[in-house]
Amino acid sequence: MANIPEFFGSLVFNDQTMRQRLPKDTYKALKKTVRMGKPIDKSIANVVAATMKDWAVEHGATHYTHWFQPMTGITAEKHDSFITPIEDGSVILEFSGKELVQGEPDASSFPSGGLRATFEARGYTAWDPTSYAFIKDGALCIPTAFYSYGGEALDKKTPLLRSMEALNIQALRILKLFGKTNVKRVFTTVGPEQEYFLVERSMFDKRKDLIFTGRTLFGAMPPKGQEMDDHYFGTIKPRVSAFMKDLNEELWKLGVLAKTEHNEVAPSQHELAPIFTTTNIAADHNQLTMEIMQKVAQRHGLACLLHEKPFAGVNGSGKHNNWSMSTDTGINLLEPGDSPMENAQFLLFLSAVIKAVDEYQDLLRISVATPGNDHRLGANEAPPAIVSMFLGEELEAVLKAIVNEDEDYVHHGREEFEVGVSVLPKISKDATDRNRTSPFAFTGNKFEFRMLGSASSISDVNVVLNTIVAEALCQFADALEKSPTVEEDLHSLIQATVEKHKRIIFNGNSYSKEWEEEAARRGLYNLKTTAEALPYFVSDKNVALFNKHHIFTEVEMESRLEILLENYSKTINIEALTMLEMIKKDIIPAVCSYIKDLTEIATMKKGLSADINADVETELIAKLSSLSACLYKKAEKLQADMVSASDYEDDAQALANYYKNTIFVDMQEARADADELETLVGERYWPYPTYGELLFGV
Ligand code: ADP
Ligand code: MG
Repeated sequence: MANIPEFFGSLVFNDQTMRQRLPKDTYKALKKTVRMGKPIDKSIANVVAATMKDWAVEHGATHYTHWFQPMTGITAEKHDSFITPIEDGSVILEFSGKELVQGEPDASSFPSGGLRATFEARGYTAWDPTSYAFIKDGALCIPTAFYSYGGEALDKKTPLLRSMEALNIQALRILKLFGKTNVKRVFTTVGPEQEYFLVERSMFDKRKDLIFTGRTLFGAMPPKGQEMDDHYFGTIKPRVSAFMKDLNEELWKLGVLAKTEHNEVAPSQHELAPIFTTTNIAADHNQLTMEIMQKVAQRHGLACLLHEKPFAGVNGSGKHNNWSMSTDTGINLLEPGDSPMENAQFLLFLSAVIKAVDEYQDLLRISVATPGNDHRLGANEAPPAIVSMFLGEELEAVLKAIVNEDEDYVHHGREEFEVGVSVLPKISKDATDRNRTSPFAFTGNKFEFRMLGSASSISDVNVVLNTIVAEALCQFADALEKSPTVEEDLHSLIQATVEKHKRIIFNGNSYSKEWEEEAARRGLYNLKTTAEALPYFVSDKNVALFNKHHIFTEVEMESRLEILLENYSKTINIEALTMLEMIKKDIIPAVCSYIKDLTEIATMKKGLSADINADVETELIAKLSSLSACLYKKAEKLQADMVSASDYEDDAQALANYYKNTIFVDMQEARADADELETLVGERYWPYPTYGELLFGV
């Protein structure tokens, strides 16, 4: 393999390339525009575009595309070539500033939640100069935001950028109170750990459920699952290792900081974690990672499953969103400091997160609500649908001392405990992550939000995180800026905040039944499914929050809710249709042919002599016949119930509820019979690769 530092980022028009290639003035002007978040000047755009094109063509690109992140949760692109005809009939390669800065994809088929339907079908893309352009499959990809004629966001990037700006504004106000006037910008950082499954491609191709829905809709448990814990961190098999090597190289070329890889808990399950970076870049990179994982897998004769629960009965896949706030001077604001004043600042930011998570539990829950993740949250391996926080022993003790609950915070030898004045003790860093069951854990100098599903874009959770923390910081700044005695008021502010919001802190086993009861006593939300969680999105408090920080207008929120609800119902609808097809076209015919063979054998035996025992065949025929009759009945019920879904067509929420309460339940019933049939039918009759083959095949 070539020298890694040499090819790292070789397909990215990154800062280094810009500095090398752009005229000095243009480079400076561009950097300034990016820093200030101002629109780009036309003359600068022209120079940048021409330079980008030359660079891209040198690297084999023939096309360019505005690369955007519509509400489908995956990325979209439409390629245009650089060629421009000239008079003599030949062509030259051109790329103008205008083409770089704005595009107008025919976007009427992307989900808009009704935003564009009424008056204007066009959608626009606008260059996001804070994310680097890159080359993928011979096309120069320009990261862009996607919005409607009226300026409403139609994508996941626009609100993310807006939320980063909101947090920047509020965090700077706080830092100013601490005299940090040298800080010009605060941004959030994210390192998402991505879980996935790898299965043999040829087996994947034989399963309609995997092809159409990304998960298995049937499958009896094999004799061995994950109970031996022998896969987690186990030796990586050569085939998987070759895949990972290839994947890393592809990602490194695109500047993705792929860092760690290991086997996960379930057989065939793996994880890739990058080194953290600025949130919008992390979001771009995670999209690329998911896309390239699937592509590289195909090259290796494998299929990469990103679904949150591809297999019932073994662990599902999540995406841990490691999040922090950082200054342009390189300070991590969630890093406990060395001096009392730094620690006061740290505790203030920490309190802001505690307040934010408690006040907006519902939004955090909604930000991870997908039909796929519903299978995972609250199962044995994943956090429950209840949001709570884990802070670690050291911080816990500090906070207890602040609210005067811990009389003997003795090991610091302090009688008084005051934030903001010189008596605040040094907070030793407690980086150990002792509670793996917590959905929102402080891990030394960042928070790890663990509820996110593996297939989701990380944008939604970070829009929520950035905005809710911005709001808490805003309230703190409002109070402290008025105060003549900031140092002293800090203590009471932190004290009051912790006192008020400590119900969100929980150190025990979040997977336990007792916690569910305890959480109910504490008045925490327990929104078990997507259909139950989504209506909270547009509550007055949430609309007020997003309006205040210019993240979403009410219209944008209504449209997003509509899209989420539709997505929920459509997903279950596709699963149900796939299930029906599999039952009728594959499973029942397979059972019938087994019954037919059994019947023939039994008849032949009897024909030979009445004394020959045909009990096994007879018994099996009886069992299979009654079970398949049951299955058929359930399929008929499912089908009839799906027809009735049209009664709810005009009300997206009612339709989602119907899918959850009726269709989803029908599907579970049908699956139970089919899985039992699988255990009875001879191997060569069963139409699909089994769980055993899928999970242990690679
Ligand atoms: P683990 O023990 O879970 O592997 P690590 O400390 O290795 O934890 O980090 C896991 C993820 O958290 C990595 O993607 C890492 O880059 C990211 N991370 C570390 N520090 C930060 C930070 N300040 N902000 C955001 N993400 C971070
Ligand atoms: Mg983790």
